[in-house]
Amino acid sequence: MTGARSGPSQRHALQGEPVVPSAPSTIDLHTHTSRSDGLLRPSQLVAEAAAAGVRLLAITDHDTLAGVRDVLDADNVPAGLDLLPGIELNAITADRLDLRESEVHVLGLGVDPDDDELEATLALQRRRRRHRFERMVRRLRDIARPIDDALEALPATGDEDALGRPRVARAMIAKGYVTSVEEAFSMYLSRGRPGYVAREGLGPIDAIRAIRAAGGLAVLAHFSEAPERPDLIRELQAAGLGGLEVYYRTFDALTVEAVAAVATEASLVATGGSDYHGDLESYAATHAALWVPPTVEAPLRTALAAARTGTAATR
Ligand SMILES: [Zn+2]
Ligand SMILES: [Zn+2]
Repeated sequence: MTGARSGPSQRHALQGEPVVPSAPSTIDLHTHTSRSDGLLRPSQLVAEAAAAGVRLLAITDHDTLAGVRDVLDADNVPAGLDLLPGIELNAITADRLDLRESEVHVLGLGVDPDDDELEATLALQRRRRRHRFERMVRRLRDIARPIDDALEALPATGDEDALGRPRVARAMIAKGYVTSVEEAFSMYLSRGRPGYVAREGLGPIDAIRAIRAAGGLAVLAHFSEAPERPDLIRELQAAGLGGLEVYYRTFDALTVEAVAAVATEASLVATGGSDYHGDLESYAATHAALWVPPTVEAPLRTALAAARTGTAATR
């Protein structure tokens, strides 16, 4: 794999044949809003997804359910759209330095947005994010790339918002240091580059447990290495992993096929999504290239229901 590995979603882009959607996708189980590192406000995102034809949408902001709550509290779920509460946890795999940035990302689909224990875990993750963010800003200042004034000009973030590298990247673009989020990652913000600061936080087993305890389905996100890492898949599955993100928007056709085979073999539910952040194009343009087959829905619903009742039984 020699694909560009810099930006938040581009780094998963592979070099083979692109997936050609058979029809407009009605399912998108991986999206970000301005409550974490996306650009669209939560209400905008759900409106644009519904307008593009999505009927089952998960908002999966990093370490926060604030975006989901914004939409639910304001009664802003468009007619005909089923909004699934979700999160994405970037879990540290310090013992596996061969994995990209020593991280795997775990999606929690269908988590209870009112679960106090999950909220406490997320709040701790957000504090660690803020700390890492501040260290990155300091590091950039030390190498004569200050971004403080540009950060102030970006939309404000609240206590429930999860700060991420794309925000640093956008401030760097505003300052003229780079021209894209991808360039900011590849020159400054990825491991080994001068603005990089290692993440602190949960490991994958604890991330999966936190999701399960809140009634959610734990899904390994955009893990194109899955076919080469059956050991890791088995280990995570033993800890409660229930799904694998097979239909990831920037996977090429062969990768989708290979990751789908892993899901089938391991009896993991196949999910799919755009990982939309909003830096490169409109939601509609991203959606036009997304293929999540409708056959994903029935097994997903069964697994979500089992995850919910599993919580009730073990508590
Ligand atoms: Zn991710
Ligand atoms: Zn994501």
